[in-house]
Amino acid sequence: LASREVKPEPSIIDVCGVKFGGENIPVIAGPCSVENEEGVIKTAEFIKAAGAQMLRGGAFKPRTSPYSFQGLEEDGLKILAKAREATGLPIVTEVTNPRYVDMVYKYADMFQVGARNVQNFALLSELGKTDKPVLLKRGMSTTIEEYLNATEYILSEGNKNVILCERGLRTFETATRNTLDISAVPVIKEKSHLPIIIDPSHAAGHWQYVGPLSKAAVAIGADGLIIEVHPEPEKAWSDGAQSLTPTQFLKLMGSMRSIALAI
Ligand code: PEP
Ligand code: MN
Repeated sequence: LASREVKPEPSIIDVCGVKFGGENIPVIAGPCSVENEEGVIKTAEFIKAAGAQMLRGGAFKPRTSPYSFQGLEEDGLKILAKAREATGLPIVTEVTNPRYVDMVYKYADMFQVGARNVQNFALLSELGKTDKPVLLKRGMSTTIEEYLNATEYILSEGNKNVILCERGLRTFETATRNTLDISAVPVIKEKSHLPIIIDPSHAAGHWQYVGPLSKAAVAIGADGLIIEVHPEPEKAWSDGAQSLTPTQFLKLMGSMRSIALAI
């Protein structure tokens, strides 16, 4: 169902009026984790003023260690809903377990499935039964064929609103957190009608590479970006090293706009 052979024309996925897969390149931004109401609302207002069209923030965090901060759960979802009320930005947030789908559904405008859950087929099937869009991230060692097969678990249940996201692969290189597989964009566009966006933050792992990778994403024809922004990255509860400050984000939005105009 994800294949171009079944549907030759590109799919445009509409998330509360934000369209992925068409002419525009929407940018989703926000903190890795939802930490507190004031910080999330401040960030949402800033990224909106800078031109972002959706807010991200994790309330359920799939951390490597069970002893790390796991997210504010429903309290975090409530904070995201308040930020949407304050700014009008639709929200995307991660769901990590089929038993939380109903809860996250109440607050989110789009579900996020993280890299670690790309082949959590029980979760994917459950999301396929809902009517909200799903941002399905590629795993750190998922082939494109495996990735597109994972989308079928959602599509075959009836939910046709799937957006793909390349976020870097695990390779031998340690200078970056992951290696951004930029070629996934043209390969997936050839094989599938689904939109594909880029997450430069989790690929880079270090804020100073987020700008160059974002510009490459725009130039190669990605259908959007998801970028981590935190008011005080050095104090972030997760992924501070790869988070942009609001000022850095504003500057990046300006340079991405010039690339989009140049191509
Ligand atoms: C995230 O978006 O904060 C996240 C956990 O990403 P990934 O699943 O790509 O590691
Ligand atoms: Mn993160």
